[in-house]
Amino acid sequence: MTIKAYGTYGADKPLEPLEITRRAPGPHDVQIEIAYCGICHSDLHQARAEWVGTHWPCVPGHEIVGRVSAVGAHVSGFRTGELVGIGCIVDSCRHCPDCEDGLENYCDGMVGTYNGPTDDPPGHTLGGYSQRIVVHERYVLRIRHPEEQLAAVAPLLCAGITTYSPLKHWKAGPGKKVGVVGIGGLGHMGIKLAHAMGAHVVAFTTSESKREDAHALGADEVVVSRNPDEMAAHAKSFDFILNTVAAPHDLDGFLVLLKRDGTMTLVGAPATPHPSPNVFNLITKRRALAGSMIGGIPETQEMLDFCAEHGIVSDIELIRADAINGAYERMLKGDVKYRFVIDTASLSA
Ligand code: NAP
Ligand code: ZN
Ligand code: ZN
Repeated sequence: MTIKAYGTYGADKPLEPLEITRRAPGPHDVQIEIAYCGICHSDLHQARAEWVGTHWPCVPGHEIVGRVSAVGAHVSGFRTGELVGIGCIVDSCRHCPDCEDGLENYCDGMVGTYNGPTDDPPGHTLGGYSQRIVVHERYVLRIRHPEEQLAAVAPLLCAGITTYSPLKHWKAGPGKKVGVVGIGGLGHMGIKLAHAMGAHVVAFTTSESKREDAHALGADEVVVSRNPDEMAAHAKSFDFILNTVAAPHDLDGFLVLLKRDGTMTLVGAPATPHPSPNVFNLITKRRALAGSMIGGIPETQEMLDFCAEHGIVSDIELIRADAINGAYERMLKGDVKYRFVIDTASLSA
């Protein structure tokens, strides 16, 4: 069936209203009426072809929440009327070691919610800046937050899991000093989650104006990273640093803040590479520089349940679909507190 969406036909073109087709639900599919969809910086990277291989038209959006409107004959886990979410993954090979471990995010056959290969309908996947989506039940998440928080739950589906997964993997918790670099969509969730896990949290920002907010989000300390004295005060002290910055920058300034055996994990995915770090900043303290990509489906459900239990949602600015282009410009300036979310009811208005 045909539905309304927002997307773009080229890297240098604005997003505009368009119509797309969704398949009828198959035996294992869940059909979802999308209520809200978050705007991730990855949407901008993809829509502007800053990463290789964007297919047109590009309909971004992988922070999707909504209500089930139909289920296939063999779906047992979901029923019509339930609140559910779809994150960054809508399919994977389902039999490789990564899929068997519930880490579909690392499957070579992972299909992204947008710009991924699909036969049904043929072409590429189209994301959540749209009215409806149809997804195999394996990739559907259950939402246990109260319904009035639904819009603010949407960003958990990418920003939440992308920060939760590395924080868990590198054991953020009581007794650990954890840094979060960049207070944007991912970073503000990283601060909330690391705080809820019990770590001592230090937020790093380039924006003096975010200092007070960072404390309110759960940071025990805030460092304006442009200030060398503030940075030097934390030398050799961190167990773990989660770096969410969306642009190339000097990694050494943060590596030297790690203590012996500390790790800095990059989740930001800038269009062009960072300047290479100085190897001496790694070898002299057995430090590690790592990366992490979203999270698997079971882990995403675990994160949603953790957030529901701890009353954690995203801080959002709700917008109409016709405000997406302006939102992209503000996101590039770091001017969002802290995630734009599209009210998809505006697609039909
Ligand atoms: P965002 O909301 O735009 O936040 C990025 C933040 O980085 C900004 O708010 C700003 O924070 C800081 N920043 C931006 N430019 C900077 C610069 N030139 N120097 C220093 N700091 C800068 O973006 P997001 O949605 O959180 O996404 C962040 C990155 O993660 C993007 O590259 C995105 O594609 C990537 N991502 C990766 C994954 C994954 O699986 N690994 C998943 C989702 C997104 P301050 O104002 O506090 O400095
Ligand atoms: Zn994302
Ligand atoms: Zn697989």
